[in-house]
Amino acid sequence: MLRLVIALFLATTLLVASSATADLDRAKKNLYSSSKENQFSAYDTYKRYYIKALIKGDTKQQERCLNGICIAGKKLRIDVREYQQKLKRLEKSSNKKAVSKKHIASHTKTEKIKPAKKRKSKKVKIRSQHALTGFKWEGRSLVLNFDFNLKSKDVNYFSLRPEGKKGYRYIFDVNAIVHKKPIIKHKEIKRIAISQHKPTSIRIVIESSKRLKPRFKRDGKQLVIDLGVSKVYAPKAKKRTRKVSHNKLIVIDPGHGGRDGGAVGYKRHLEKDIVLQISKRLAKILKSEGYRVQMTRDRDKTVSLKYRAKYARKNKPDLFISIHGNSVPKKNAHKAKGIEIYYLDPKRGSQRSSRLERKENAADYSAMTRSMTELFVSTQSRTKILESTFLAIDMGQNVADRLRGKNYKVKDVRVKGGNFWVLVGATSAAVLVEVGFVSNPQEVQLLIKSRYQQAFAQGLADGVDQYFNNKARR
Ligand SMILES: [Zn+2]
Repeated sequence: MLRLVIALFLATTLLVASSATADLDRAKKNLYSSSKENQFSAYDTYKRYYIKALIKGDTKQQERCLNGICIAGKKLRIDVREYQQKLKRLEKSSNKKAVSKKHIASHTKTEKIKPAKKRKSKKVKIRSQHALTGFKWEGRSLVLNFDFNLKSKDVNYFSLRPEGKKGYRYIFDVNAIVHKKPIIKHKEIKRIAISQHKPTSIRIVIESSKRLKPRFKRDGKQLVIDLGVSKVYAPKAKKRTRKVSHNKLIVIDPGHGGRDGGAVGYKRHLEKDIVLQISKRLAKILKSEGYRVQMTRDRDKTVSLKYRAKYARKNKPDLFISIHGNSVPKKNAHKAKGIEIYYLDPKRGSQRSSRLERKENAADYSAMTRSMTELFVSTQSRTKILESTFLAIDMGQNVADRLRGKNYKVKDVRVKGGNFWVLVGATSAAVLVEVGFVSNPQEVQLLIKSRYQQAFAQGLADGVDQYFNNKARR
């Protein structure tokens, strides 16, 4: 086994050494493809090369990779805040360097130095993280969707009658970026074009041979432009085809139990109780949808981590879902909140997740040295990690949607890589869901409510459905 691992390692290093530029170029292509799998592959590539760039001290490549990681993270809804911070720091320091160089130059040289600003590069470098995500026609209005709430300063409108040319131009500049330019057409309008006009803004040009009277409004994340043209009827929504997966086996693993209460929350609510309640609801929904479901525990009893991991292997389940609740010490109890979903990532080293790892792994961890775990983890297949990531992303989006649908204010679910012993044994896609912080007074009040629990479980089940549907298409 070890020899195989070494051979594989050598093979990949050689391959990588010979084609760094090619890899990064491919990553760029994948990043802007519409397939999540490609996007994730880009994310993965950028992460690998970021580490290499760190070792080499190649700041240019670091910046390129961080940029890629951030864009991919945004698309895949993976938590990349630490990389965004790194990117910011890097950009700041490279700006400083540029400034100090100029400063020295102006003192040593007497001739006039052309300001660097005037040099215009043709390609616009993209900086803003906010993006245009899509569009639709609603009656006579063109609705543009963004991934942030538009403020009045974000939208600038003006109209033009270009000299020498016939017709009218209506122009909207919006502070956002566009990853993939959408094709928008209307039979009464000559042209609708969207371009990355500046690093931080896109330009939407509506060209018409006759005069239009566009009216527009900002509506949350939407820019609604009423063009006064004839109505466009939306194509009939396709019926959602739900493939009932009678054969799929899903193991649900409610964390802790019995002597191990897990985290003790605000007003002494226990993690083990909350996670069991949500797990049972999830099991019920999945069963009603035709899945086979097994639980590592369905009541309050002590279950060892070894047993759970074995369970994850034993019957070769298609999915393994471990459910936990998070907590922090009292002094931060009001601050820390939110839902997190972890997939197994052997290379992860974020401080936050390793603290969590220690906590969640604690029960049996003493019996296993860290290096042992790492060895085990390193033999996990890439496909499994990839599948787990997809599952985590699908679950995260659906949980957020379901909770918002019930008017709960939730931020995006954070999807992260982590090193969890319980996930290691799983034969297939496996995730660990942190349903929220039991230490947070507001969050725990929600977590014990049956309405909230039900919406949460429904979201997880939707995520499972979406995962299998997407997988069939991959
Ligand atoms: Zn736990």
